Amino acid sequence: MMELKIQLIPTGEIILSPGKNGENHCHNCKVVASDGVRAMMESALTARDRVGVQDFVLLENYTSEAAFIENLRKRFKENLIYTYIGSVLVSVNPYKDLEIYTKNHMERYRGVNFYEVSPHIYAVADNSYRSMRTEGKDQCILISGESGAGKTEASKKILQYYAVTCPASEQVQTVKDRLLQSNPVLEAFGNAKTLRNDNSSRFGKYMDIQFDFKGAPVGGHIINYLLEKSRVVHQNHGERNFHIFYQLIEGGEEDLLRHLGLERNPQQYQYLIKGNCPKVSSINDRSDWKVVRKALTVIGFSENEVEELLNIIASVLHLGNVQYGGEDSNACITSDIQIKYLARLLGVNVSVLTEALTHKKIIAKGEELMSPLNLEQASSARDALAKAVYGRTFTWLVNKINASLTYTVYTLIHTVDNVFSSPFEQFCINYCNEKLQQLFIELTLKSEQDEYEAEGITWEPVQYFNNKIICDLVEEKFKGIISILDEECLRPGDASDLTFLEKLEDTVGGHAHFVTLQASVFFAPFATQRPLAFISLSPANHLSFIIFLCLPLQAATQFKASLAKLMEILMSKEPSYVRCIKPNDSKQSGRFDEVLIRHQVKYLGLMENLRVRRAGFAYRRRYEVFLQRYKSLCPGTWPNWDGKLSDGVSTLVKHLGYKPEEYKMGRSKIFIRFPKTLFATEDALETR
Ligand code: ADP
Repeated sequence: MMELKIQLIPTGEIILSPGKNGENHCHNCKVVASDGVRAMMESALTARDRVGVQDFVLLENYTSEAAFIENLRKRFKENLIYTYIGSVLVSVNPYKDLEIYTKNHMERYRGVNFYEVSPHIYAVADNSYRSMRTEGKDQCILISGESGAGKTEASKKILQYYAVTCPASEQVQTVKDRLLQSNPVLEAFGNAKTLRNDNSSRFGKYMDIQFDFKGAPVGGHIINYLLEKSRVVHQNHGERNFHIFYQLIEGGEEDLLRHLGLERNPQQYQYLIKGNCPKVSSINDRSDWKVVRKALTVIGFSENEVEELLNIIASVLHLGNVQYGGEDSNACITSDIQIKYLARLLGVNVSVLTEALTHKKIIAKGEELMSPLNLEQASSARDALAKAVYGRTFTWLVNKINASLTYTVYTLIHTVDNVFSSPFEQFCINYCNEKLQQLFIELTLKSEQDEYEAEGITWEPVQYFNNKIICDLVEEKFKGIISILDEECLRPGDASDLTFLEKLEDTVGGHAHFVTLQASVFFAPFATQRPLAFISLSPANHLSFIIFLCLPLQAATQFKASLAKLMEILMSKEPSYVRCIKPNDSKQSGRFDEVLIRHQVKYLGLMENLRVRRAGFAYRRRYEVFLQRYKSLCPGTWPNWDGKLSDGVSTLVKHLGYKPEEYKMGRSKIFIRFPKTLFATEDALETR
């Protein structure tokens, strides 16, 4: 038995509490080692200093950011990319393949208590799954971090874990296949190469998997929000449009391209050349096309639907090549061929389309009139149409995937990138992150409070920065930034970035957290799209959609509403958190850029999280687990304790000299306030 436990240590089957010399011991290990065994153990463990603690809660100096970063650094150097803050998993992108995702690893985490094994994404996946099954509570896993931090990879690892470890039957296999195959499709349409990440998700998504009563996955649901539509028409230098465009052009069969009127050369398309990097060495568009094409079939798209989908993708490329000429104040289209293709692919009449791209609808004296656009307005009308078409198609695609997965929500995976190109998108995503952080702190405090209450321990209020004040600044009715923005956008006539800024200053300028916004860039996207008002297309094909080009007018409000819905979903579930950190900007393995990491630790609110988690007690364990581990340290409890478990633990800790302020006895658990008390006990185990 002894040997067995010790052999497990190097492979990572280790517990939370670090010993003096090394990372961990086995949880249930009775340390009565023979000399030989002890020598082995010491050599395996001579490393607490080297590998740090696997739960930040055990950092002695838990308020020190430097100590936090140092612990991350130590672990990162040893390829230990995962560390907990209580039950929150912090993950640092290794930028290299680690041998920690094998079937063996999956087995190791299956059904095992969270704290008995080293931190891992599988532990989070398994824990959520088991809580769902044993407590019947809906779960969600929230994965956050900036672009390239590893969120998408984390969600894939979770899916793979479920695909391998959950019970399967034949019909379940279909759902599993579809769930796994939805990834390449969503990535093709929603991911793009950015400067930071060759395969960056440009949309927020939740992916839910439903399990049946036997624990088999029987369905799933994906909700998407805030696709970065501006990328459809513009990319920064060194970045690309969404993958699907290049895949289609590079990989599409000759016949298909001919039908779509496309040439096999991305340089031909205005919407693909803005970033000046059509080819990326890490991406093979041609083989990705095959994967996506096959995945569409597995998910259940019919040939017709695929054709309609590709018609739309091609029409976006044609739209980008629509050129305007004529007088400045009266734009007309000079590229007839594009309009012909567009009319055919979108199933609309040439004259309707031409008018939509060159005129706006105005209401004068109660009558609707079409008034011509100038050159600049016409170009932005064209771009707005392209963005709207793509955005709608993406939503349609996600809905189709959902329909193929039939059932509704259970396990929720949510990813958010925080790097968006327009200031407005950045504003939305910052606001989203503030809301999530608020929810996170509330739920962490609540779960701490609940546990104290369940254990009969007095709750001591925790001081923390409640960012509700910031959320209010953004979302409050009538006087929040979003309300003001909406009001300005809807006001006829002279609304501009200046009037918006003035109004903001009047209304919220005195707010302690108000930061002067760059109103011109912020307001501009709305202002330029205002004249477009409303265009509806009723295409002849089945992919019917109505495009409201006035969408931006209400965009912030819509975003607020969808965020409120997200919060509602999250509040009704038991959340687990994965916080992803990007170690450097050059995608290099082994490089730990401290400045960048410190920024993310702040941004993700990790110090605040640790402070809340540590405000009361650093460590808590069920009596039986605690007693089993340390009973050999006290003659009164060794070799066995026959009485009440809590009495046994009391006897034990009194014998060890715990002072009353160092611990509390709950109903089923002991709570230890400081890590040093626990470490001293651990050390006693080792030196005994
Ligand atoms: P995000 O979704 O946060 O933008 P990704 O999950 O796409 O970031 O990660 C970016 C890249 O980093 C991946 O393509 C992969 O090369 C690498 N990466 C991320 N997580 C891991 C991991 N756990 N192991 C190895 N490489 C990883």
